[in-house]
Amino acid sequence: MKSLETAKNMELYSLSTLNYIRKKFGFHNAKSLGQNFLTDKGVIDSIIEATDINEEDLVIEIGPGIGVLTVEAAKEAGKVCAIEIDKNLLPVLDFTLKGYDNIEVINQDVLKTNLNDIIKSSTFQHTKVIGNLPYYITTPIIMYLLENEINIESITIMMQKEVADRIIAGPGSKTFGAISLAVQYYCEVSEVADVPKEVFYPVPKVDSTVLKLSIRTEKQVQPKNEKLMFSCIKAGFGQRRKTILNSLTGAGFSKDEIKQALERLSIEPKRRAETLSIEDFAAISDELAVFVEKKDE
Ligand code: SAM
Repeated sequence: MKSLETAKNMELYSLSTLNYIRKKFGFHNAKSLGQNFLTDKGVIDSIIEATDINEEDLVIEIGPGIGVLTVEAAKEAGKVCAIEIDKNLLPVLDFTLKGYDNIEVINQDVLKTNLNDIIKSSTFQHTKVIGNLPYYITTPIIMYLLENEINIESITIMMQKEVADRIIAGPGSKTFGAISLAVQYYCEVSEVADVPKEVFYPVPKVDSTVLKLSIRTEKQVQPKNEKLMFSCIKAGFGQRRKTILNSLTGAGFSKDEIKQALERLSIEPKRRAETLSIEDFAAISDELAVFVEKKDE
């Protein structure tokens, strides 16, 4: 295996390289950190292509692992900033990323990283996020990126297929829920690829999907009170079997207040949250905002 001693020419994604690296560095994949590494060049290429990277871009990668996506992004981008929580991967990344002068590895939990500081201190025009996300914190990572209004253009990420199905679902669908509304409010969502579980090492229990979330310059709706709209969504889907009249009491309103709001909007109180669109939730929260204002007086 002497020829593998310089990493730049190796096929990082191949299983034999991964085995070589695991042996060389005594590295064991940590299940608790969702370390299922990609071993398929086609999938890596589809993530890079969908991200549409050029040299004016800063790419932020969440969880580089041994660097399979990192090196491919670095070939196209101005700079790649790879955030990896596992310090055991640092000597591995030192080896696999040697020779690339536009990659910075940050050993941190992405959820505790101030991404806006990283973006502000760089000189690049656009910032794009990529990653093969650890399954155990996919939703918190997505919501962290969206709710903190981090200045990014797009997020191209691999996640469990079941989570992707929920994100892309529309009203009336069984998988439609608070996460669909939240992500679609901030982003235009497109499906990049379905990925079978066999292309990961170790092989996980479930299949995956790559989604591209393109951040909207203008949000899907403009509610008077965004926080209130999301508490209505949370209350509505928190008890999704209940009628909207009953479930919205969970957002702190009386049935009488909810009835009045729904009546003004001609929304049938017997409907359930899963049949309502983001426009409906924005309109309901706009009507209910009146009662919040009265309580605040
Ligand atoms: N990108 C590599 C690949 O595709 O082969 C690795 C993907 S693996 C599914 C997820 C990676 O995220 C692991 O390297 C893991 O250590 C890292 N990770 C897990 N939790 C993290 C966190 N909170 N912040 C940053 N990285 C994290």
